[in-house]
This record gives sequence, C-alpha cells and structure tokens, in this order.
Amino acid sequence: MEPAPGSLRGRVAVITGGGRGIGRAIATDLARAGADIALTYRSDPAQAEGVAAELAATHGVRVRAVQCDVRQSADVERLINEAKDNLGGLHILVNNAGMTADNLVMRMSEQAWDDVIETNLRGTFLASKAAIRHMLRERWGRIINITSIVGVSGNAGQANYAAAKAGIIGFTRSLALEVASRNITVNAVAPGFVLTDMTSGLTDDQKEAIRGRIPMGRYAEAGEISPLVAFLASEGASYITGQVINVDGGLVMA
Ligand code: NAP
Repeated sequence: MEPAPGSLRGRVAVITGGGRGIGRAIATDLARAGADIALTYRSDPAQAEGVAAELAATHGVRVRAVQCDVRQSADVERLINEAKDNLGGLHILVNNAGMTADNLVMRMSEQAWDDVIETNLRGTFLASKAAIRHMLRERWGRIINITSIVGVSGNAGQANYAAAKAGIIGFTRSLALEVASRNITVNAVAPGFVLTDMTSGLTDDQKEAIRGRIPMGRYAEAGEISPLVAFLASEGASYITGQVINVDGGLVMA
C-alpha cells in the first residue's frame, strides 16, 4: 500500500539548528510524520540530546543530535555522513541555522557582516552541496531553506541579514533549476516575525511597532512555521520547486 501523501515514514531528515526555536518545531513536525532525524547543536549537547530523546520517545523514530557549525565544511560533511551512515540515508535537508547581528550599515562591523552571511548563506550552500551528492544518486530529495520576509522586503538595521536571506532566495531558485530533472525539489520558507530567542532581544517598543504592522496583529509561534516545512518535505509536494512561500500573518503581500 502507498504511504499517505503527508507521511515521512522511511525518510531521513537533517535539520540544522534543530535543537531550539523554529528548528525544534520543524524537527517535531517531521518526527510526528515519521521521519528519522539528525538535528544539530553547536555547543550545548545536553539541550539537543534532550530534544532528540523526547522526539524519539514520543514519535517512535530515530533522532540523533550532531555537533555542527554550519560555517565549517568539515562539520557539515560529518553531519551528512552521520545521517547516511547511522540513519541509513539522507532524503530531506532543512537549512534552518541562522543568526542576526543588527546595526545600521554605517555602524556595522565587518565581523557582523561576515558572521551573518557565513552562517545563513554559506551554511546553506555548504549543507546543500554535501546533501545533493547523495540525493542525486538516489534521484529523490527535498531541500527546504529557511529565509525571511526581510530577504524580500529589506529591513533597516538588518542589511547583513536581509542580504543573506535574499541570497538564500537566489540560491534556492538556482539550485532548484540545477536538480529539478533528478526529482529533487528546493524551496524556501520565509517566516515573518516569530516568537523565539532570535526576536526575544527586541525592545518592547520595537515589538509593539512590528506587531502594529502585522495584519493578523500578532507574532507567529514556531509551530505555525513548521507544518509548511513538513508539507514541502512530503510526497504531496512533489511538483513544487523553486518557490518562496511567506508565512507572515499577511505582513508582506507581493
Ligand atoms: P534561534 O532560536 O535563535 O535559533 C537559531 C538556531 O540556529 C539555533 O538552533 C542555533 O544553534 C542555530 N545556529 C546559529 N548559528 C549556527 C551555526 N554557525 N552553526 C550551526 N547552527 C547554528 O532562531 P529561530 O528564530 O529559531 O531561527 C531559525 C531560522 O529561522 C533562522 O534561519 C532565522 O533566520 C529564521 N527566521 C527567524 C525569524 C524569527 O522571527 N524568529 C523570522 C524569519 C526567519 P545552537 O542552538 O547550537 O546555537
């Protein structure tokens, strides 16, 4: 019998930064759909291993927590090999790891520029490059890149982040064209403003100003971003590629 269109049973997913925030919600939804998972942490194994154990116990799937800094190609290679060798394959890659280092361009350090571009954009490139080698052989794959509406609209004080996220959109469309004939889809999900550690540093005034611009009048929960990622990873999304889908409460209407 064919699996249900949303089922990920028998699939192996790698999620960069799957230990907290949006990545954790994505790991939860993919595990719920039946995927075995490798999620990453940089420096706190206890937190990531706790999430891995909880997901495995709740959903009856295999989950491994793997140390990985997405800026380092050796770490990324090790991550992909870990999934292939210990979970038996690599079908789904979610490039979720990201960071901000906000400032106006006139005050932005070169370090802040480089850190944000390297984590968001170079990390997405490195992991995708390592993953597609395997996906091309399998003639099946799903790559889902977490960009941001800021990559579409721009945002004062986030030129580095907006440039990285816009870069991810160009990368998504280009890679989608390169691998479409091999049954590998590449899409991007662009959240608006989500309640995670990333936005917790905003001042109350900033939070209120942003909230006032969101047509739905509230921030997203991480669990409102992840269902779309699970769908894009599934068989039901087999003919969707090269798309950027906003999940933003109506903030950006293009
Ligand atoms: P978060 O809670 O700050 O989590 C960031 C994640 O990225 C963490 O899991 C972190 O891993 C990982 N990470 C950061 N630098 C890394 C590196 N060099 N190597 C490997 N992993 C690294 O943020 P979030 O809100 O969940 O963000 C997840 C994604 O959504 C990011 O790409 C972000 O840009 C995007 N996004 C967020 C929002 C929002 O409003 N929150 C809106 C649009 C897009 P550790 O736990 O190991 O530090």
